[in-house]
Amino acid sequence: MVAERRFVVDVNVGRLAKWLRVMGYDAAFPRENGDNELVRIALQEDRVLVTRDSGIAQRRAVRLGQMKVVRIENDDFRSQLKQLVTELKLDLAGGFSRCVRCNQVLQPRLKQDVARRLPPYVFQTHSQFMECPQCCRLYWRGTHWTNMMSELERLRQEDS
Ligand SMILES: [Zn+2]
Repeated sequence: MVAERRFVVDVNVGRLAKWLRVMGYDAAFPRENGDNELVRIALQEDRVLVTRDSGIAQRRAVRLGQMKVVRIENDDFRSQLKQLVTELKLDLAGGFSRCVRCNQVLQPRLKQDVARRLPPYVFQTHSQFMECPQCCRLYWRGTHWTNMMSELERLRQEDS
């Protein structure tokens, strides 16, 4: 089971939202995302704010401990991902539970019910399927997903 921590991701580190969702975390990525909006969402919905912006960490709500900010230090994406995984001690055992596009919780589907929508190779080689209730995208643990999880595992084990 993935931890209950939830996130709101600033546009300046937007790619991280997708990876958080791959790990199964609830990661909001608001379109209107000026600093005030990000802080409002973080406070109202009890979300950890992930940003590259150092100014936001000086906010009163942060100093008072009302909200938590992860200030991403590096420009390099791989380093950003590594910081996120190690600093927050993210759980890599879960995942495969959230739509990377719309952040919705996926629902399990029986193979027989989605068979028509599957490429033949996937039909033959997979047995577990999930569907996004919002965009109806089907998920299975394919190569792409496996590769992303292995990359995260590698990052976590690297020496810093
Ligand atoms: Zn979706």
